[in-house]
Amino acid sequence: MGRSWGHVVRQLTDAEIDHYDRWDERCAVSPKCQDQATHLTAYDYVTGRAGRVTDSRRRACTPHAEKFAAKHGIEIAPAPEFEPKRDRGIIAAEVDSFDEPLARVKLERSGRSWVLTEYGGNGFTISGTVWLDRVPAETALEDVLPHAEAELALRRRYVITRPWALSHRIADTFVERAERTPAWADVPWVFTIGEDSAGYGRAVWRAIGLLDEQFKPEVWALGTTGIDLDRAIRTTNTMLAEHWELGEWTRRDNTATTKGRARVR
Ligand SMILES: [Zn+2]
Repeated sequence: MGRSWGHVVRQLTDAEIDHYDRWDERCAVSPKCQDQATHLTAYDYVTGRAGRVTDSRRRACTPHAEKFAAKHGIEIAPAPEFEPKRDRGIIAAEVDSFDEPLARVKLERSGRSWVLTEYGGNGFTISGTVWLDRVPAETALEDVLPHAEAELALRRRYVITRPWALSHRIADTFVERAERTPAWADVPWVFTIGEDSAGYGRAVWRAIGLLDEQFKPEVWALGTTGIDLDRAIRTTNTMLAEHWELGEWTRRDNTATTKGRARVR
């Protein structure tokens, strides 16, 4: 600790405490301590010969936070007034990862495969390449177009916004997020909350938003621990409140569904 400085400790917000509780992330000051995390401690320190500065942040229970404050002669700061979304993504991490917006796509044959190239930004920056493996190479370009559109919908939730331009065995068009197009903007999403244990050591509660079966859904992970349907609904309502307007939830067994619309941004 000789080469450490800048010790600070603050209370967690109610949302942060709730988040850590749902994910079973307890006090991290001591491996033995399994108390609820109520504070965040942080300090900077120098590591290795190169003298790199690293910061250490740890969740702490109330007794460990008080000990930390006393040891370093500092006051415990109150929780921030606004949710610290960028504070190591505690809450932000619950929001689905952000995809770079696409502007344009190009479809062409490359060797033995049909390839869809996705362009972001101004329509010139390549942001992804998708091999349409299930489409035989000898398929005519016109017949590949529906496959390309299905791929864009399922993988990215994009639709084409004008007819494909065909020239020299290449097809090219512009695309937009489905929900931003007139055809889909007013269509309500269906939201489902449930517990899903597939592929994980422990069951994860999730909320899933689906605009239509053909489109990629949005998924929000709610937590693993101490969650029942009531808490899952409360968490979803809180988590989605900023961007979504949700209706009343209908419960069945251990799941709940509702409809919702994106708030106009
Ligand atoms: Zn502790």
